Amino acid sequence: MELGQNEQSSGENSRSGTMPAASLTLLRTGEASQTVGEAQALFGHSVAGLAAIAESLGEKPYRGRQLADALYRQRQNDWAVMSTLPLSFRERLKQAGWTPGRPEIVESFRSVDGTERYLIRTGEHTVETVWMPDGDGAAEVDEPETQSERASALDTASRQEWKRATICVSSQVGCAVNCQFCLTAKLGLQRNLTAGEIAGQVVAVLDRHAVEINRNRINLVFMGMGEPFLNYDHFMAAVRLLKDEVGIATQRMTVSTSGIVPAIRRFAAEPERPRLAISLNAPNDAVRESVMPINRKWPIRELIESLCAIPFKPREKLTFEYVLLDGVTNRREDARELAALVRHSGLPAMVNLIAWNPGPGIAHSSPSQDSVLAFQQELLSAGIQTYIRRPRGRDIYAACGQLKRTTETGTAKSGTARPRGGAEEQAQ
Ligand code: SF4
Repeated sequence: MELGQNEQSSGENSRSGTMPAASLTLLRTGEASQTVGEAQALFGHSVAGLAAIAESLGEKPYRGRQLADALYRQRQNDWAVMSTLPLSFRERLKQAGWTPGRPEIVESFRSVDGTERYLIRTGEHTVETVWMPDGDGAAEVDEPETQSERASALDTASRQEWKRATICVSSQVGCAVNCQFCLTAKLGLQRNLTAGEIAGQVVAVLDRHAVEINRNRINLVFMGMGEPFLNYDHFMAAVRLLKDEVGIATQRMTVSTSGIVPAIRRFAAEPERPRLAISLNAPNDAVRESVMPINRKWPIRELIESLCAIPFKPREKLTFEYVLLDGVTNRREDARELAALVRHSGLPAMVNLIAWNPGPGIAHSSPSQDSVLAFQQELLSAGIQTYIRRPRGRDIYAACGQLKRTTETGTAKSGTARPRGGAEEQAQ
């Protein structure tokens, strides 16, 4: 979507004969870039893209690597502090219409449980990103800690409030999927985010918390606003940037999808990919269609078939996320049917249960704690690894299903979220 916008604006500039140098370079690199005021953002370009930009200004290609280090490893977002780059080069970049251009945190909300919710500005929009400090070791999908992470954990704990953390990232502004229990759905899709806008949320939050990427344990969940698999190319470009340039392993990333089958098939063929979570939320097509209209396009059988094509690694687990809506998806028979579905799929899967949090304008009810535990028990006794997600940041509207577009409703300052992921961590 952003590339299209760039192409369009380039065309317009071309016609009027005022195409900025930055736009000319974008056409050469083929990479999408967001606009920051009159300038184009460098943030989001690969090393190759940055090298091409440097070369277009008469510099050697190695300047691309220097630019990448400044933007992604040192997290510099201001020409004045990029002292590894010659002043003359910085000046030429500026004159050619480039700016560092990382998305910025413009507002933050802190929960009593330590969760922080941010509004991050990307161009003319803001998106939500959530920081969840996690010191209790509950995240079952994590890889074992590395030696340096273990060694630094005690040290870290003594000077910070957290030992490790999860960042929940948005992939679109709004969402077109229209899940009936989700407040983000009410926005509709406003636009896709570029790779730089997706990765930029992460780098902005890492910077805020002075995270040392090789010492602190950071997980990413692509479960914020939007359906990542309906913005697949930008999402995967962001994953590569976060892996190659920011230094976060793909095993530490989880992407959640509502079940976009063609994108799942592409995902299956990726040489390196994050872990996968499927927002399932119902044990059969009839119930799923009533809560997730997308099921009419890709019913459960087709979804499961696409998942079976993924070459899971030996210890890798697929997660089925399941929002419990009282009287709709949380009955005992639903649990039995879900257990049979998961078992018969043959997939290396586990289930995350999410007790739905009430939201304005959504005609569903939250399940009782007893019914959530009974549902879990039913699955456990069928041999299905099952966790209950503990809501995080309820007091700042950061818990799953609790956030909303409060700029419109006036209930809180701002925000949107959806029940399939967001500010929650799992506990058994
Ligand atoms: S739950 Fe996810 S996919 Fe469904 S409408 Fe909300 S943001 Fe979109």
